[in-house]
Amino acid sequence: MKVYEGNFLKDVVAKLLDDGYRVYAPVKEKNYHVFKVVENADEVDFDYINTRRSPKDVTFPENEVLMKYGEWVEEIPAQADKTAIVGIRPCDIQGLRLMDRVFLEDITDPYYEAKRKNLLVVGYACNEAGDYCFCTSVGLSPFKSDYADIIVTELGDKQVVEIRSEKGEAVASKFDLSDASDEDVSRKKELEQKVLSSFVRSVNTENLKERMAEAFNSDYWKEVAENCVSCGICTYLCPTCFCFDIFDDGELKGVRIRAWDSCQFPLHTLESSSHNPRREKWQRLRNRFYDKFYYMLVRKGEFYCVGCGRCIAACPVGIDIAEVINNIPSGV
Ligand code: SF4
Ligand code: SF4
Repeated sequence: MKVYEGNFLKDVVAKLLDDGYRVYAPVKEKNYHVFKVVENADEVDFDYINTRRSPKDVTFPENEVLMKYGEWVEEIPAQADKTAIVGIRPCDIQGLRLMDRVFLEDITDPYYEAKRKNLLVVGYACNEAGDYCFCTSVGLSPFKSDYADIIVTELGDKQVVEIRSEKGEAVASKFDLSDASDEDVSRKKELEQKVLSSFVRSVNTENLKERMAEAFNSDYWKEVAENCVSCGICTYLCPTCFCFDIFDDGELKGVRIRAWDSCQFPLHTLESSSHNPRREKWQRLRNRFYDKFYYMLVRKGEFYCVGCGRCIAACPVGIDIAEVINNIPSGV
């Protein structure tokens, strides 16, 4: 464990920009933060709990042109500049790991792979839980991640720098880091205890698979869905929602685009026969909860919710995934 006397995150942004990286980092906009491509380290603001949007668009853009067509077809090659994301929280690093499992594990998506291979991940341990956070309920830590290249903890006057990969080592070696003292280690532990005690929200995952299997046909899902307006914002902001659609924009001449889609939209599952297996709003809403806590658990062995709380914070009608899961009826 190393320490840096100063703001490692800000200095790393400056260094990576000098080295020709495309750098995504948190930027303050109005009263919230978002990850943006920055051109100067002074644009960055690391004083945040989490960003309003997840950074999934770094490897999985909202819209991506795959091909141009007209008199000739021009395929767009899968390529990416060397890119870094700096200041990403541990829940979003887990989001990236879960997306990797979708886009790289069984079938390799070349567009995703090119971006992912060229990505350096500099994580930022949480020093406070947000009102909607519940990452500890889904088995995650707010200050650890073995999936980052580097993870940084803020101690106020200095930052603890933990190097997790060769890629991270190559970057960290350009900085004047010293070994963490016993006092630094104990200050870090104290901070971690403080962070853990700041969580106000939790999800009961005990026997969840069995409870969800039992409740699948319950009218509970109709009650939960009553006020949902099918806006899809919960899925757009989620770091692990990966559904997309591919369409052609233009008749004889145009572009083929891959764009995010949402299971909350009625057309998402409409088949060409006009049959729709999730015709009703409550079936679509139920799908989101089952996708996060049941289907992906069966398919991949882990929850596809990282407890970031974004869907709770943004839902216009107050649908709260933690509350919904905790209130699943038993014995139905
Ligand atoms: S389902 Fe909600 S809380 Fe879970 S990862 Fe997605 S946005 Fe975050
Ligand atoms: S954000 Fe809320 S209202 Fe919009 S689709 Fe999701 S659950 Fe429904």
